[in-house]
Amino acid sequence: MTRPGPPAQPPGTAQRLRAAGIGLAVATALAAFFLALPEPGEERLAPPAPGFVVQDVRLFDGEILTDRATVVVRAGRVVEAGPDLAVPPDLPVVDGRGHTLLPGLIDAHVHTWGNALAETLNFGVTTVLDMFSDPAAARTLRRTRDALAPREHADLFSAGWLATAAGGHGTQFGLPVPTLATPDEAPGWVDARLAEGSDFVKIVYEPRDAHGLGPPFPSLDLATMTALVAATQARGHRAVVHVTRLGPAVEAVEAGADGLVHAPADRVADERLLQQARDRDAFVIPTLAVIAGFDPTPPPAGEAREGRRFAADPAVRPFITPEQRRGLEYEPGTKLVMSNLQTALDTVRALHAAGVDVLAGSDAPNPGTAHGASLHHELELLVRAGLTPTEALRAATALPARRFGLADRGRIAPGQRADLLLVAGDPSADIRATRAIVRIWKNGSAVERRRYPEAP
Ligand SMILES: [Zn+2]
Repeated sequence: MTRPGPPAQPPGTAQRLRAAGIGLAVATALAAFFLALPEPGEERLAPPAPGFVVQDVRLFDGEILTDRATVVVRAGRVVEAGPDLAVPPDLPVVDGRGHTLLPGLIDAHVHTWGNALAETLNFGVTTVLDMFSDPAAARTLRRTRDALAPREHADLFSAGWLATAAGGHGTQFGLPVPTLATPDEAPGWVDARLAEGSDFVKIVYEPRDAHGLGPPFPSLDLATMTALVAATQARGHRAVVHVTRLGPAVEAVEAGADGLVHAPADRVADERLLQQARDRDAFVIPTLAVIAGFDPTPPPAGEAREGRRFAADPAVRPFITPEQRRGLEYEPGTKLVMSNLQTALDTVRALHAAGVDVLAGSDAPNPGTAHGASLHHELELLVRAGLTPTEALRAATALPARRFGLADRGRIAPGQRADLLLVAGDPSADIRATRAIVRIWKNGSAVERRRYPEAP
């Protein structure tokens, strides 16, 4: 039986998590889902849906916008996309006028368990990059991931176990996380993860500074983190690093990490980080939604906290479970000073201005977030940090696909998997329009959105 993968979270928060009911929810939700998933070989999967046409739609293809285009889908893939296309007579037509068609969204930082992947798809997020969960859970999903069969859940790409020190971040849940201590162990550790099927490697790096300040748990040292990055890349895979502070962020980029999976939120990015990230072409997945969730700063008088405000959006609320709503409405304690949304927003603004690739990721289902929904919140926060709405859309489509080597998704172009999201209005003008979901297709098959009655 599969056990829940724990969330990666800012330091010292396990008890807060449990107080919020997250740990319990995870434990109870899990068995139902992964045990219920079928385990067919590809030959037993249903054939792809025949196809359809979306006509006269505003098209965001993952990179650029076209005011009026037609998209033809057959057997789970996009076969044509562009202006002035003839409509094939044998396919049903969806009228796209007034709407925008987007690639299915990619959440570049989640932790999956329970109903995560169905909840994710319910918001048009068709692919997730999991940054730490039990590798057993990913095995079945990975086996059928390349097929074009109709799906009721998002596709999963996963790091599996994370690299951390004994007693370090990620070990607090009692799961059998294989830890390491020295650079010599790095090649073997990486080999074991790749043998388990990890799609990439995630490393926790939370060392104390020269004054002994830092999280109250052990961390891998600089040499071991560096050796893990090198061993992963020598085997042709990507290495990403969990940091929460500026100093370790600079060290991780200097060590050659492909990317950082959080924006540092203790101090605003300085010239050293900007220059290193730019020169080494590292990307950053800021996870502003979860930083907002943990930020103890009270909201301005008369305003709700970020997560609560987002959860109240009438385009969001009917489509989240009561448990997801409780996650979004999480109230942090007052002592957690490492998580400051304004600092992270300023860091993202600086990174983006310096030309560093910024990818959209929510860190769901950590406090203040919910699977699927929170990627739309993240897009709004990225725009607040200075990305244009179109740049934010790229950060959740073509950019993560390119940076993680996912060749068949993230764009709307001939040959691409037909993971599509049709929304009312124009998210390139107002990013919140991504929540005005009209239709979702996974592998070219229409997804029926789940609605949840309002809890009393
Ligand atoms: Zn995480």
